[in-house]
Amino acid sequence: MDGNALAKQVRISVKKQTALLPQPPGLAVIQVGDNPASMVYVANKRRDCEKCGIISHAHLLAEDAGQDTLLELIRRLNAQADVHGILVQLPLPKGYNADAVIQAISPEKDVDAFHALTMGKLYLNCGPAFEPCTPAGVIALLDRYEIDLRGKHCVVVGRSNIVGKPMGTMLLHRHATVTICHGSTVDLPSHTRQADVLISAVGKAGLITTDMVKPGAVVIDVGINRVGDKIHGDVDFEPIEKTASFITPVPGGVGPMTRAMLMKNTLKAAQDYFMRGN
Ligand code: NAD
Repeated sequence: MDGNALAKQVRISVKKQTALLPQPPGLAVIQVGDNPASMVYVANKRRDCEKCGIISHAHLLAEDAGQDTLLELIRRLNAQADVHGILVQLPLPKGYNADAVIQAISPEKDVDAFHALTMGKLYLNCGPAFEPCTPAGVIALLDRYEIDLRGKHCVVVGRSNIVGKPMGTMLLHRHATVTICHGSTVDLPSHTRQADVLISAVGKAGLITTDMVKPGAVVIDVGINRVGDKIHGDVDFEPIEKTASFITPVPGGVGPMTRAMLMKNTLKAAQDYFMRGN
């Protein structure tokens, strides 16, 4: 499954729609400290914004700026008219309360979709709300390849708030039967082997081996693991590619889709802002 190709299509569509707005959408990206991986992610987001006709507002705070300074910046951005989406690059350095930071973002600008209100709306299926970017990217890929989820057994490995849990919920909304596995699951292979659609979001290279996958299954690899100077997923790609009906590569699968969905959410934030009569 080619995430790069689909992400490009999404960006083209977003660009067309941003051009129809009275003003370009604005995305504020806040980074605290100079974590090298975060620097790369933030730079990628800036490039994506440029491609989509979105203005990116970068805010780099020193690692020791402190929680109060960060919260004050978010309050200011919540009120700033040309900023439609706000994103805080995670993880935050030690000493910050990420939960309090996320809850400080106005739900109307919550393009990462991590706010409790956004999550609550997602779980209740009572939108319109933003959808978390990674699971939304996975669903977009499954749709693109016309994989019907109704009645299928989907096994999600990982139960984080940003991937596993919302992923399970979104699959339920597509009428799948969902199993969510995690670090305390006993006999993981006995669960994964039942999956028509297997989604791994753990962060352990080589976790999903060929004996854990039913022949013909759809395999989605969310994991990102740096091994030396290479990036691997959670899934043992080469052997499983031979037996799976569909599989996402790492890199080039879910990663670009996550970024594309952020652009889509930022467009939606701006569209909603102008719809409210601003
Ligand atoms: P996390 O650390 O918050 O959660 C990991 C989950 O895996 C936990 O629920 C844990 O219980 C479970 N787990 C740990 N060991 C396990 C095991 N042996 N068997 C079964 N479950 C196990 O991580 P996260 O933020 O959800 O991210 C997961 C992975 O996905 C990471 O590699 C991350 O880099 C990657 N990620 C990728 C994208 C993308 O766009 N491709 C986006 C977000 C996260």
